[in-house]
Amino acid sequence: MKHNLETKIKIGNHTKMLWESNSIAKQRMIMGLKRSGLSQKGKIKVVRTKRYCKRCNLEFVTLISSSKVYCGRNCSGKEAIRNATVAYVANRNHIHECIRILVIQWSITNKEIVLKTPYNKIRTSLKSLLDEIKIRYGVSDIRVICKAVLGVDTGRKDLIRFMKKISSENIC
Ligand SMILES: [Zn+2]
Repeated sequence: MKHNLETKIKIGNHTKMLWESNSIAKQRMIMGLKRSGLSQKGKIKVVRTKRYCKRCNLEFVTLISSSKVYCGRNCSGKEAIRNATVAYVANRNHIHECIRILVIQWSITNKEIVLKTPYNKIRTSLKSLLDEIKIRYGVSDIRVICKAVLGVDTGRKDLIRFMKKISSENIC
């Protein structure tokens, strides 16, 4: 299809207007460019835009079709680490909460065992509970279990003390 100069200017202006808008037509142009692969090959001049880095607030210029929100790898990398840490902490807290609930339920269900457990025989006496925690949550470190249940790791004797308290409170 051939266009005369006037039509070309009109189309040019229209296209420019579309790029500056936030319309569905603009989204279509972006998708079209991405699909064609022409934008990557530099065959089509894509409008550039100024953005502010989501992390450091520094101004940077990028293609209007780009999904970039960070000024560079330094900021995107740091943000990725931060997000991973947030997810890790949330997951760890969730696991700790699950362990706490399991220990409480187990103490109620197995109160005879808990009440008979000597303070120095936790590993052997509570083996089935510790095995279940390991299988379900991959946690075998008794200090981590103490911290999950008590909020702080004050030692395994405090753990069994807590469990005995739960067991004796729930005798029917
Ligand atoms: Zn930045």
